[in-house]
Amino acid sequence: MFLIRHFVLHAGCSAKCALETRGLYHKEYCLFNKQLSREQYENFINEFKFTYTNIKDSKEKLAELRLKVPHKNLEIDSSENYLGDYISNSKNCTDCFDIMESQDCKYVWDGMMNTGYDCFNTGLDASFIYESVGVYRANNVKFCNKCSQVNDTFYCDYCYKLSNSFGCTNLNYNEYCILNKKYTKEEYEKLLPRIIEHMKKTGEWGEFFDPKISLIGYNSSMAQYYFPLDETSAEKQGFLWEAYGKPKTELKSTKAKDLPNDISEVKDDILNTTIECEKDGKPFRIIPQELSFYKKHGLALPHPCHDCRHFERKGKMNPRKLYDRTCMKCGTEITTTYEPSRKEIVYCEKCYLENI
Ligand SMILES: [Zn+2]
Ligand SMILES: [Zn+2]
Repeated sequence: MFLIRHFVLHAGCSAKCALETRGLYHKEYCLFNKQLSREQYENFINEFKFTYTNIKDSKEKLAELRLKVPHKNLEIDSSENYLGDYISNSKNCTDCFDIMESQDCKYVWDGMMNTGYDCFNTGLDASFIYESVGVYRANNVKFCNKCSQVNDTFYCDYCYKLSNSFGCTNLNYNEYCILNKKYTKEEYEKLLPRIIEHMKKTGEWGEFFDPKISLIGYNSSMAQYYFPLDETSAEKQGFLWEAYGKPKTELKSTKAKDLPNDISEVKDDILNTTIECEKDGKPFRIIPQELSFYKKHGLALPHPCHDCRHFERKGKMNPRKLYDRTCMKCGTEITTTYEPSRKEIVYCEKCYLENI
């Protein structure tokens, strides 16, 4: 329980047993970056109530604290020959963000692989992956989506334990398949080059799936977070757009601001209520497991809907863009994900390490 409560507000440190801290390393029993004794800290944490107002105030104080302490230009750990941010134990990776244990990669976000190009959320025992999303434990995979334990597959979608296959979807434990139809090895090896040749002529080979077949609109996808578009420009580029209409419901509705401040005051009938998001007014519900989790850990009910909470969390991460600016202590030129007009104090790694 302590750990869960602890992580609600703790951010950007390697300190343990610390609440509402930022940029602390190898420390413990800290509160707003101030050192407390173990006893003082434990008294505080045992008495602290995770009410809605306390959580909100603490988040605001932490945001203020973030502006007072230096930040490292990039978060790189044990890596060489890189360009990007949040890179650990990696080598020869360019324009990569949030990758680990990777080598020879370019344009990889959220990855862990050897030799990858244009991939998102892909990796884990993976190599030679090109233009793919959500592919795990894979080798020589191109233009695939959400596949696991696949080898030598192209344009496959939601497949598992599939090898030497093309254009298959939801097909498991198979090989030498084209459009979900099984062929002999010889037939497959004759057909595949002909298909690729044809697709090269039509201009289809080398591109990821057509966005028109996406099941969700651009505005509901993570792309909207990283590369925001309005409806007209999204549709011009061939993306779907989801029009939002408030669902009809017989349930009682409550505005988020009218929710009890303390979880102990929340009654079970909240499960039969829709809560109106404090940010965009979208209704959302609390499910029984969620309510029991909040009650067990003494956490106040959330006021924003799930989507707004997700975007709030993502908003705490720096953008996946690199800027050239200078260290605010020694003036040396640095590359960083902190855009020059931001208010944080940004140091080069050397100055940052001297400061902590
Ligand atoms: Zn919302
Ligand atoms: Zn410096």
